[in-house]
Amino acid sequence: MLTFTHRTLGQRVLFGEGQAADHLLAEVNRLDAHAIMLIAEATDRTRATQLAARLPQALIYDRVAPHVPLETAEHARRFAAEHGIDLLVSIGGGSATGLAKAVALSTGIPIVAIPTTYAGSEATNVWGLTENARKTTGVDDRVLPVTVIYDVALTYTLPVELSVASGLNALAHCVDSMWAPRTDPIDQAMATEGIRALSAGLPAVKKDPHDRGGREQTLYGAYLSAVAFSSAGSGLHHKICHVLGGAYNLPHAQTHAVILPHVLAYLAPAAPAAAERMATAFGSSDAVTGLNRLREALDAPVALADYGFDEAVIDEAAQLILPVVPENTPRDVGADDLAQLLRAAWAGDTPTSEVQP
Ligand code: NAD
Repeated sequence: MLTFTHRTLGQRVLFGEGQAADHLLAEVNRLDAHAIMLIAEATDRTRATQLAARLPQALIYDRVAPHVPLETAEHARRFAAEHGIDLLVSIGGGSATGLAKAVALSTGIPIVAIPTTYAGSEATNVWGLTENARKTTGVDDRVLPVTVIYDVALTYTLPVELSVASGLNALAHCVDSMWAPRTDPIDQAMATEGIRALSAGLPAVKKDPHDRGGREQTLYGAYLSAVAFSSAGSGLHHKICHVLGGAYNLPHAQTHAVILPHVLAYLAPAAPAAAERMATAFGSSDAVTGLNRLREALDAPVALADYGFDEAVIDEAAQLILPVVPENTPRDVGADDLAQLLRAAWAGDTPTSEVQP
């Protein structure tokens, strides 16, 4: 019997190369906006100015900082109030989108998001704010952008290394969505298609960052990954990475890239239906081999030891992760299992598809 509850978040998605300016103007008219705050990093000012030139009453705001410090958010909120802003437009990666969300959270002003990385924040109703080096996150429908405008022309400048890191992070959203706490068949369908698109797109981007098809598949896959993940929630992979990032200050993207194959190898034998769908999506005989091949093609990070993770803290890390293992994880997870997984990730072992429950 198939029973599930799924909530689809309401959002328009406009996708097309070279069409961001036209799509934005159409959205501004549709939303009847008259005072627009265009949020972009200072380094992206040229692009923001070009977009703003086509709009009525657009002000560029460029005080964007990683992980949305509270003081940055408060400054942006004051700016929005002082100028009677009625539409927020973010252009950039998760940091620019995140700042727009922080303003929307306290004001309810709608957001049109124009993403230029594969982080996926544009497709979620999750906000994040950092105060005294601690990041707080929450869920609020006011921060979900009303419209997302995807334009691969804006992604050609994203360096290959950042593209790969960001794309693998999106892939991790897909894999975790297959067995995360609120997963349902709709999330799994989107996650599977996301894996197919990302594993087709990323090698093409790695070979040639101007490959249009590769950029399109990667951006499309990143959107699907975010939609699936925001509905399904965090599975074992994200819980492990969250603990490692917080307790040992490990770099976000590299930690995800290293941990993912180990979690997949551990869980896949206990979730054969999900594993089979992922294998098909990777175009491989099994999911673990498919992910290993993709990682090889992308020259992905292999060992936590390379990023300052100390072998001596493995048992302690396993104890920190244990209480946050999601209840519905398809395979029992004990401290020894976690320590073994972390040791393999620390050493940079290539996981095989033979890890049996
Ligand atoms: P980012 O926005 O900080 O961008 C990373 C770097 O890439 C920056 O230096 C930026 O200048 C550069 N960049 C972005 N687009 C570029 C382009 N097209 N060409 C050249 N350079 C470009 O980082 P990110 O990885 O996009 O996002 C990470 C942030 O987003 C984190 O704070 C994370 O917590 C948050 N996030 C939130 C959600 C959510 O649902 N709320 C989801 C995913 C990520």
